[in-house]
Amino acid sequence: MAKQRIGIYPGTFDPITNGHLDIIKRGLRLVDKLVIGVATNPSKDPMFSLSERVAVVERETHDMAKVAGVEIDVMPFDELLMKFAERVGADIIIRGLRAVADFEYEFQMTGMNYQINPNIETVFLMADPRYQTIASRLVKEVARYDGNIEAFVPSMVASEVVKRVNESKV
Ligand code: ADP
Repeated sequence: MAKQRIGIYPGTFDPITNGHLDIIKRGLRLVDKLVIGVATNPSKDPMFSLSERVAVVERETHDMAKVAGVEIDVMPFDELLMKFAERVGADIIIRGLRAVADFEYEFQMTGMNYQINPNIETVFLMADPRYQTIASRLVKEVARYDGNIEAFVPSMVASEVVKRVNESKV
């Protein structure tokens, strides 16, 4: 039997958006198992704690994994991405690419990662055009100004973001 192909999709997921979910759905077609790595990222001062983000990613990807017949493992991580990828035995790293904004950063990071471990490929996927402009940071910003975020995140996530925004206002 051929070796299981393991992919890793890292991010902060603060919160998970329809853009992330579209990339995950596409990524599931490429691998036998997908590890979604949720980064601690304290420098980004996340709205949701690490355990909250892990639980939400698990909840929102559960059905997708079932439909695709691919195992999804959601794991927190707080180490160099390549170290984490090696530890879980990943063959590929999946990244989403939004227009030109992500390019410079992704270009540099992939180049450096190739030097750290040349055996793990980084694969870039493009989200459906409807989801390409969605960014977690903007979702939070829109919610802070009482804008409607229903089009950008799953409905339970929208309620959770609004709740968190309201809690921080009192
Ligand atoms: P990071 O903190 O590394 O930016 P994010 O959680 O924002 O992590 O995103 C994780 C990955 O998902 C990154 O590769 C990012 O480019 C990608 N991504 C986020 N939003 C979108 C989107 N709307 N379309 C395509 N890719 C996206």
